[in-house]
Amino acid sequence: MKIGFIGLGNMGGPMAANLAKAGHEVTGFDMAEVSIEGIQMANSATEAAKGAQVVITMLPNGDILRKVAAEVIPAMDKGAVLLDCSTVDVDSARAVAEQAQTAGLSALDAPVSGGVGGAQGGTLTFMVGGDEAGFATAKELFDIMGQKAVHCGPSGNGQAAKICNNMILGATMIVTCEAFALADKLGLDRQAMFDVVSTSSGSSWSMNTYCPAPGIGPQSPSDNDYQPGFAADLMLKDLRLAQAAAESADADTPLGEAAMRLYAQFVEDEDGKGRDFSAMLPRFEKRGRN
Ligand code: NAD
Repeated sequence: MKIGFIGLGNMGGPMAANLAKAGHEVTGFDMAEVSIEGIQMANSATEAAKGAQVVITMLPNGDILRKVAAEVIPAMDKGAVLLDCSTVDVDSARAVAEQAQTAGLSALDAPVSGGVGGAQGGTLTFMVGGDEAGFATAKELFDIMGQKAVHCGPSGNGQAAKICNNMILGATMIVTCEAFALADKLGLDRQAMFDVVSTSSGSSWSMNTYCPAPGIGPQSPSDNDYQPGFAADLMLKDLRLAQAAAESADADTPLGEAAMRLYAQFVEDEDGKGRDFSAMLPRFEKRGRN
């Protein structure tokens, strides 16, 4: 397949490389100087998009996506697919999809879970919103870049699934860290705490797979001095997107809002910037009740 790939950063770079490795003809564009094995670089987003059956975007946020989409949509062939894999707000995803459909294109919002490791290893999970025809065309690309693609419904529903998932993740990580810090103060051994909770009703991905306590459970960023992993800054971005969506849909999300406030404090006023999002545990360790 002829593919245009715009945004070749930490995630987009390895995703594009995997598509090229699988034999697809990939033309890339990024604002920054990048070179990726097997990818021919274009001088503009429009040039990368021309003649492509699928144009993939992997960009920092919704404003940038809207800007890039406005450039590339007029350059794309009718019937081609605009496939956005960035994490952006639901409103931007829906606005871009509408613009693409008006121009005779298929549009998919397909944010991912799995991080840089998943992008490199081709094991991402895609949460996809958009039409059936676009999903059918993109399926073989999802199968190369990832291990699972769930079609969640019409445009915007991929982003909706992503922010709901990450709102749960942010809140469960915070409460898991709180519980470890409380257990320490109560004299409960961390290994015993893990052995109980990971097989009881308090279990979660945050505890079982990504345990925030160093030396406990499977290998995780806590065992590497909380190098990300999944940075607290990115968790904050996703929690803010969840709150923006809750605001526009008039949904009551008090725990999601509290999680967003705590990550904002951690990243902006404390030492959380650039650390893994599970570094909430050393934060709580240092604190008392007030
Ligand atoms: P990144 O900053 O490494 O990459 C973004 C790239 O987009 C950069 O190379 C930048 O130069 C390029 N770019 C910016 N504006 C551009 C423009 N106008 N035209 C062309 N290129 C432009 O970010 P990333 O970590 O690759 O994340 C990309 C997206 O994936 C984000 O939406 C992020 O939330 C999401 N995501 C990231 C992770 C992760 O672990 N890093 C996990 C899941 C989802």
